[in-house]
Amino acid sequence: MDTKKEHVNPFEMAMTQFDIAADKMKLEQWIRLKLRNPRLCLTVSIPVKMDDGTLKVFIGHRVQHNVVRGPAKGGIRYHPDVTLDEVKALAAWMTWKCAVVNLPFGGGKGGVTCDPKNMSLGELERMTRRYISEITSIIGPDQDIPAPDVYTNAQTMAWIMDTYSVFKGYTVPGVVTGKPISLGGSVGRDKATAQGCVYTIIEAAKYLKMKLQGATVVVQGYGNAGYNAAELLHKEGCKIIAVSDSQGGIMNTRGLDPVAVMTHKEKTGSVVGFKGADKISNEELLTLKCDILVPAALENVITKHNAAKIKARISAEAANGPTTPEADDILHQNNVFVIPDILANAGGVTVSYLEWVQNLERLSWTAEDVNKHLLRHMTNAFNEVVRTHEKYKVHMRTASNILAIGRVAEATKLRGIYP
Ligand code: NAD
Repeated sequence: MDTKKEHVNPFEMAMTQFDIAADKMKLEQWIRLKLRNPRLCLTVSIPVKMDDGTLKVFIGHRVQHNVVRGPAKGGIRYHPDVTLDEVKALAAWMTWKCAVVNLPFGGGKGGVTCDPKNMSLGELERMTRRYISEITSIIGPDQDIPAPDVYTNAQTMAWIMDTYSVFKGYTVPGVVTGKPISLGGSVGRDKATAQGCVYTIIEAAKYLKMKLQGATVVVQGYGNAGYNAAELLHKEGCKIIAVSDSQGGIMNTRGLDPVAVMTHKEKTGSVVGFKGADKISNEELLTLKCDILVPAALENVITKHNAAKIKARISAEAANGPTTPEADDILHQNNVFVIPDILANAGGVTVSYLEWVQNLERLSWTAEDVNKHLLRHMTNAFNEVVRTHEKYKVHMRTASNILAIGRVAEATKLRGIYP
């Protein structure tokens, strides 16, 4: 099997997707120019005393792509491959993601180029606190609200909240979301991305007149998004026939019990070796015949090299950026219905929004309250994207972008350009 990976610059990919939608909607030139350029890019150096007594200087970025509909919103990523271009792309995608589910937020993103797997907890804490000190003037509950992303978690968010609060002189829970529940985090945040994704799959099945009972499901990636999506789809009556993680995949056409697979993964470190299932590669897994494919691992996994071999009826993108623009066209021609990332995985930022609202109101809602709002945002967004897809006769990714860019463009026109 051809496993060649396309090395697409993420910012160029984001701009290609933007241009496709902007052309279809005949967006005026001045708005294109405004929306192509991030509002603010701040790059800082972060000196950290390491455990062995040496000093290291890390490079960090915070990008606010757009704030015309509200404060910038987006996670902070710690990874060796972080670049300013990647952070700019992720910030732009956050603008569209927040707009497509109609949250009163703009888009932002942060990143520090580092290797968190080889840093101690103390080093990570010192790096986080110094990074936040350096960007403190541009973040805040009304300005820019970070959240977790790759290799940052609830503990990182607690350090961010504490550092910002020390600078202010009082506790500011609304500066960051994805916090531990005891510090103002929201119930339901842990499963929010998967739950939101499953709500969009339920709507897609209705739209395509497809029965979920007995529908076959393949999930790539068995972490927060992938495992929870498998478990929730299993509860909806679907048959999970294959799942994978970074070590490889497993398949059983009679169906897998997702909880038993997770128990095995927790014991052994991987889904591979689960009793009663055959081992398959991640490449084979993507091209299995199934009703629903859930890419929930990495970006750039469905490319022009394998798109023609995808046999799923629905591809629900829990992961960010799993499909390249060329692959999108191939999937569309082959009648694969894609629920694009900015829609399918918007459940996470939606519950982050609900956390922020609870923090500002000094309230904590029940799981039922949170779920009710999540369901409303996701189903409304799905149906609005479908209407755009039918109106413009474009695939679902371009339709999501048209809807989102249209909302940001309208707000831009109404606010005008200062002075
Ligand atoms: P995670 O770290 O919890 O899980 C990732 C999973 O992918 C792990 O099981 C890992 O083993 C697996 N994986 C890694 N490399 C793989 C490979 N080559 N093939 C198959 N599996 C592989 O991460 P997560 O939070 O579940 O995020 C997964 C994706 O979902 C990312 O693209 C992320 O940006 C996106 N996402 C997550 C959230 C969220 O709230 N968790 C929100 C929006 C988008």
